[in-house]
Amino acid sequence: MDQIQHDIILVGGGAAGLRAAIAALEETPRLSVALVSKVYPMRSHTVSAEGGSAAVVRDYDSLELHARDTVKGSDFLADQDAVEAFVAEAPGEIVQIEHWGCPWSRDPDGRVSVRAFGGMSVKRTVYASDKTGFHMLHALFQTSLKYDQLTRDDEFFVTSLLGEDGACRGVVAWDIRGGRFICLVARTVILCTGGAGRIFPFTTNGAIKTGDGMALAYRAGVPLKDMEFVQYHPTGLPGTGILITEASRGEGGYLLNAKGDRFMSEYAPNKKELAARDVISRAIVDEMQAGRTFDGPYGNYVHLDLRHLGEAAINKKLPFVRELTRNYVGLDPVVDPIPVRPVVHYMMGGVHTDMSGSTPLSGLYAAGEVACVTINGANRLGSNSLTECLVFGARAGAAAARYAAEASQPRTESLLQLAAQEERRVREKFLERKGGKERIVDLREEMHRVMESGAGIYRNETDLKETCRVLRDLREKFDHLASIDKEQVFNTELTAVLELDFMIDVAETVAQSALRRHESRGSHARTDYKERDDSRHPNHFLVTHTPEGPRFDDLPVCITRFQPEKRSY
Ligand SMILES: Cc1cc2nc3c(=O)[nH]c(=O)nc-3n(C[C@H](O)[C@H](O)[C@H](O)COP(=O)(O)OP(=O)(O)OC[C@H]3O[C@@H](n4cnc5c(N)ncnc54)[C@H](O)[C@@H]3O)c2cc1C
Repeated sequence: MDQIQHDIILVGGGAAGLRAAIAALEETPRLSVALVSKVYPMRSHTVSAEGGSAAVVRDYDSLELHARDTVKGSDFLADQDAVEAFVAEAPGEIVQIEHWGCPWSRDPDGRVSVRAFGGMSVKRTVYASDKTGFHMLHALFQTSLKYDQLTRDDEFFVTSLLGEDGACRGVVAWDIRGGRFICLVARTVILCTGGAGRIFPFTTNGAIKTGDGMALAYRAGVPLKDMEFVQYHPTGLPGTGILITEASRGEGGYLLNAKGDRFMSEYAPNKKELAARDVISRAIVDEMQAGRTFDGPYGNYVHLDLRHLGEAAINKKLPFVRELTRNYVGLDPVVDPIPVRPVVHYMMGGVHTDMSGSTPLSGLYAAGEVACVTINGANRLGSNSLTECLVFGARAGAAAARYAAEASQPRTESLLQLAAQEERRVREKFLERKGGKERIVDLREEMHRVMESGAGIYRNETDLKETCRVLRDLREKFDHLASIDKEQVFNTELTAVLELDFMIDVAETVAQSALRRHESRGSHARTDYKERDDSRHPNHFLVTHTPEGPRFDDLPVCITRFQPEKRSY
């Protein structure tokens, strides 16, 4: 097996990974940094972000208000020291990325435009039409090209972390195109591998969002945090789950039930369609249960109405929404309401880090959606997460660079042996397997079914226990997989099975954490524990992998200025 040595290995080429790479090289230019990604960086999920990126850029706004909105949105589970750092550094990042080439939309007077977003008290979401993620990722990617010290390993799939003397010292990767394993050693590793929406059947998330980094860290003994909190976005297209951005409501679109009522007035009298996402998603499910929604080939749905905005505004501010609706449901939002339903969108939980992205495992950092700092708590506000990738990507990159500058050289010989063991594991378990009867697709569908039925928008003890039981059975069935494609080059069946293996671990942490949280908070709505319980649960749950099963520890929430209060919109 080939071994390649760098100072820093960055896993993931989305917004967080590229921002971290740039920050690391700005901090210490002599370092050698490798960016490892299972897809070309420009195909990372960040590219599909539509609505915008939040920061205080107007005089009427304030850092305190952005922090207050974020903490309230999180249902008071966000760590407030992290939120305060986040809002303070956000405006600088928005200016910086424009200098790198991100074409923010502008008002006629030349100022950067801002739009309304759910749970934000004032307009503070900057955007580039409704293709914000595409433009941000482009600006970061092209900026990264100027650093000679940055090498890219595109289409390398990381299967495990490498450790020595209690520190993370590299990764083992499967070179998808070359059909071989590589041992990549480094003084430090940063995980920027994104979320895990694909553990659910119906999601806005691209097919690559399979929680790999969460599982990699978990298997290496690093705790995951807040895993029970899964965000549903209220407006996905039925059938495909394709996202209709919140910007469509920010620009004035509203939701109608089958009776033609603007039902959000009942659930959130003040903010209506601009309440937080958990509130609107639950309202749609309640309308479904009351029989006031439309019935379609892909289940029940409501209408998102943009017609009153007019063709000119839709073309200027929401062209992608028009394009997606025309192409995927054959309707034109200029004249037709759009059918929508809630769909899994974002993981609030992830790898436990501090504010510099550092994890409890020495030498391992994490940033972006894979990480849980946490500014999102029990519910993320839309448009905070692109900014989170910038702020905490930059912090993690700089901190890892400082760590790498001090850390000793990894012992390459012993790491190579560990990598050889990992190669044997994957070959024996998957590539060279003969004969079981279980098919990947059946196991994945089974996981999807129980995650939706037990760990979806509404949860209860009986269903969660059943979900946990089925996930444990799936783990056993996984040991009896049918043989898979033996091809070495572009073996997509191998990557699919590796991803499913990661997803089952992540799904288990979600369901087990949800079972343990006896209250309703943010996106976690228990029908058997309907209220938020601040007396017993002002805590995060940390879940750590042990041979006997997941172990839980409590971690108190950091409260600086904003005392928990009733959350209404
Ligand atoms: C449709 C959609 C629209 C959104 N719109 C908005 C919005 O308007 N505003 C907002 O703030 N947020 C939005 N979000 C959320 C936001 O886009 C994401 O949270 C954010 O882009 C995540 O960035 P990231 O860098 O953490 O990960 P990603 O962009 O997902 O990148 C992950 C990277 O990790 C790599 N990777 C993963 N596993 C492995 C492995 N095993 N080996 C090697 N490489 C690996 C991938 O190749 C990829 O490069 C949206 C999300 C979706 C799905």
